[in-house]
Amino acid sequence: MMRTGIGTDTHAFGTGAGLHLAGLSWPDEIALSGHSDGDVAAHALCDALFSAAGLGDLGSNFGTDRPEWAGASGVALLAETATRVRGAGFDISHAAVQVIGNRPALGPRRAEAEAALSAAVGAPVSVSATTTDGLGLTGRGEGLAAIATALIARHIP
Ligand code: MG
Repeated sequence: MMRTGIGTDTHAFGTGAGLHLAGLSWPDEIALSGHSDGDVAAHALCDALFSAAGLGDLGSNFGTDRPEWAGASGVALLAETATRVRGAGFDISHAAVQVIGNRPALGPRRAEAEAALSAAVGAPVSVSATTTDGLGLTGRGEGLAAIATALIARHIP
């Protein structure tokens, strides 16, 4: 039985450099603010995987009432998410994430990002990017957003 999931995330830019995005460090780009490293791509993928498995969402799994996960990297959360989805009896077939924002340009590092996120999930992850023609919070350069999907299947022993 195949199941799909969907997830989104948005974070505002902070003040200093040191962006974490799509499992990669971007030391010359402005960091996103948030309790964690603000990796919108990793967080959207977590929500997509939880959604597909019917296991709630990022907040219900790693929220403020779970202090042991405070400050965890997006990639660490994503790896733990994949572990929980498999623990619930599913195989992860594929996931995809699209980053929405003006910068950084993901294209030159797409393969690197896909490798980092695929390693965390333990299954192929596709990465793409788009802009919003200058509209909305990402178009104004106030932050970044991401939307993700996941495809999983009930594990057949
Ligand atoms: Mg987030």
